[in-house]
Amino acid sequence: MRNEILGDEAAKVREAKLERRCTTRLRREKGRKLSKMATEQSFFLIDDLHVEIEGNEILRGVDLSVKRGEIHAIMGPNGSGKSTLAHTLMGHPSYEVTAGQVLYNGEDILEKDPNDRAKLGIFLAFQYPLAIPGVSTLNFLRTSLKAVKQAEISAREFRKHLLEKMDMLKISREFAGRYLNDGFSGGEKKRMEILQMAVLEPQLAVLDEIDSGLDIDAIRAVGEGISSIMHPEMSIVIITHYPRILHFVKPDYVHIMADGKIRQSGGFELAEELEAKGYDVLLKEVMLASS
Ligand code: ADP
Ligand code: MG
Repeated sequence: MRNEILGDEAAKVREAKLERRCTTRLRREKGRKLSKMATEQSFFLIDDLHVEIEGNEILRGVDLSVKRGEIHAIMGPNGSGKSTLAHTLMGHPSYEVTAGQVLYNGEDILEKDPNDRAKLGIFLAFQYPLAIPGVSTLNFLRTSLKAVKQAEISAREFRKHLLEKMDMLKISREFAGRYLNDGFSGGEKKRMEILQMAVLEPQLAVLDEIDSGLDIDAIRAVGEGISSIMHPEMSIVIITHYPRILHFVKPDYVHIMADGKIRQSGGFELAEELEAKGYDVLLKEVMLASS
């Protein structure tokens, strides 16, 4: 009897999953038609994105529309789903998209693997950058650039490109020869992520908590570095828990995420309001206003 009930439950879950997949496929069909229209308005469009990890729904319908030349900040309390969004955008295999679509330059990227997304010009800076002992920063970055651009770049040409970016970001040239992130401080690792972004010249950068664990001087260095890379053809989505870095990377739009969904959007003043009130008070007000 118990097994029958459990079997019934399992069948229901399977049915629900199947239904969601069908809906997703229908949405993607619709998305293809929408895509041309959407691109004219938004360079990067997230539409009703639902994501599960091990059967638990973490993202519950995220919408975001980003034009070229815009910086969007996504803020939210711990556990609200910010990193889940970043990992899903990069195509991490543990995250299952159950509904919604993500259009980049008119193309649905959800079916593409992480390498192809990078080749399209999408860059993700990780919250916890990895160290690669035995591989110099210079060699790592040259290999990454060759993979992304799908072209040969001579050692000499690359060195010039790298040193230019290092000087621009005020990173000591000595780092080029050191093993990537091996023994680097938290701040140095985050600056290496920014250097990687400068070298790869992406069109869309998603930066997940690039400021976490940094002191105020390191936050300023990272923030000013990001601002110096930004240009009118590029878009940045900066994910952060704390408003501090946004004083150096002035976002055009600020979104507050809670419980897997964007609950409030506004301009820079929303980050200032959050700074003054904190998440608890601000989110209570948002919930009250929407009920
Ligand atoms: P944030 O970056 O906003 O702090 P996360 O996206 O890391 O939030 O996490 C959102 C929720 O998803 C949390 O409740 C977290 O416990 C859960 N979660 C994140 N990664 C995993 C995972 N690999 N397996 C199971 N649950 C996870
Ligand atoms: Mg996170």
